Amino acid sequence: MQVKTVLVVEDETTIATAVAVRLRSEGFRVEVAHSGPEGVELCGRLRPALVVLDLMLPGFDGLEVLRRVHREAPVPVLVLTARDSETDLLVGLGLGADDYVTKPFSPRELVARVQAILRRVERAETPADRLVRVGGVELDAASRRARRGDERVHLTPTEFDLLYFLGDHPGVVFAREQLLVEVWGWRDGAGTASGTRTVDSHVQAVRRKLGAAVIRTVHGIGYAAAEPEPDGVQ
Ligand code: CA
Repeated sequence: MQVKTVLVVEDETTIATAVAVRLRSEGFRVEVAHSGPEGVELCGRLRPALVVLDLMLPGFDGLEVLRRVHREAPVPVLVLTARDSETDLLVGLGLGADDYVTKPFSPRELVARVQAILRRVERAETPADRLVRVGGVELDAASRRARRGDERVHLTPTEFDLLYFLGDHPGVVFAREQLLVEVWGWRDGAGTASGTRTVDSHVQAVRRKLGAAVIRTVHGIGYAAAEPEPDGVQ
């Protein structure tokens, strides 16, 4: 099996070391960058399978790192945030990070999230060759593009996966915990408050882009795709 490289961009040595040690023990090759510029440089040179990215960095911050590395080539990014409210804000901005972990986190939790993202990426590389329609939006699994009519809609990888999954199961209501397992690939921790917030934030982000009706809230249960149009054409 090919060894995957993970780039950790974090200036706090204690955190960077703990994360690196844990990831190495799981079989990853790990490189650490201690500033924004170094993170961008190493990402270009190493072409890692995934980047763990802190936001508060010397040089320039994590958002600038994210912007620059995505300009080069798409790479899955797990962002470390200081507060849940910061996560909500960033999800709302739709920056294209694949997932967020709020500090303080356990190295075990971080590794689980890294592996979940890599499973999602692998799944996305072998997509079902078909379209899903939900609430007037067409999602193409092969190109991972969303459009409404002639208009292209930009969704982050997570927003796309969430809406595609719901649209692929019309009429089915999913609990947040189920969505964390099915869409995010979490294997544990799905019942936690931060997990629930993750789902809610992404649902809100999708609704801001595509309208509130595209994802239905079923109170006390969870979320479902928009109802099909009465004539059966969505
Ligand atoms: Ca930092």
